[in-house]
Amino acid sequence: MSKTSWQEMAVYLNGEIVSGSEAKVSVFDHGFLYGDGVFEGIRVYDGCIFKCKEHIDRIYRSATAIRLDIGMSPEDLTSATVDTVRASGLRDAYIRLVVSRGIGDLGLDPRKCSQPSIVIIVGGIVLYPEEVYQKGLSLCTVSVRRNSPTALPPAIKSLNYLNNVLARIEVADAGYLEGIMLNHEGYVAECTGDNILVVTDGAIRTPADHCSLLPGVTRNAVRDLAVKRGIPYSEAILTLLDLYWADECFLTGTAAELVPVVSIDGRTIGTGEPGPVTQALLKDFREIAGQDGVPVY
Ligand code: PMP
Repeated sequence: MSKTSWQEMAVYLNGEIVSGSEAKVSVFDHGFLYGDGVFEGIRVYDGCIFKCKEHIDRIYRSATAIRLDIGMSPEDLTSATVDTVRASGLRDAYIRLVVSRGIGDLGLDPRKCSQPSIVIIVGGIVLYPEEVYQKGLSLCTVSVRRNSPTALPPAIKSLNYLNNVLARIEVADAGYLEGIMLNHEGYVAECTGDNILVVTDGAIRTPADHCSLLPGVTRNAVRDLAVKRGIPYSEAILTLLDLYWADECFLTGTAAELVPVVSIDGRTIGTGEPGPVTQALLKDFREIAGQDGVPVY
């Protein structure tokens, strides 16, 4: 993926494409003041916006949940995204789509903001070193619980990521790259920026959507690949023991793709090496990545 610095990145800002250094939003934007807005992370593989429709659908669902009118149609937002990728000239990239409540006087009431701010950044992202995909990742469980859906539903991909940031601080302090978050009931929810899945006796299980998590586009893509291979896939309520005792474990996410996990809280998972189901799905994933989406060029 590109190593473009942020100053040089192509950015769509309310109808115009500008460079990263010119792309500025107001300090009175409620996205900045209150984290009031929604976002998406999307990948471009070989000039194709991977699962574009799924991401666009999710940002509209997130916006509906917070009663934010994006003010343009999904088709127009898709076209703007395609135009911004084209302006970047990149064939492999990471897209950050942000729709905030927009500029308004101080005070929480969203009615103070008459127009949302729409931002599309096209650049790069590298989450994990290549070694992690070969050898696998070690995880720890953090003490910070994932937001309760009765407070701030994690299924809304909102600009309010402090719950995950607090967890990530704990992960970094403990010397890990990613960590597991439990939900308010103590069941496994997800990682700070990725979904988690296990393989036991040849079947894949992952925490169900009501367990306080963001239902990932990548997780759904992997589900479809598993079904194609005839691997049983189900969503369930999982405890930490279900993870410790699994034969294999892996994470999914737009930036992470599919990451093997070989150790959790000091317990070795399976053989301690990326397992065969994980490796097969990673191979399948890399094969479909450049094909399943909206072409840019
Ligand atoms: N959970 C959280 C909290 C996330 O932020 C993300 C996205 N980085 C995911 C899961 C994975 O979702 P997706 O596969 O749609 O990127």
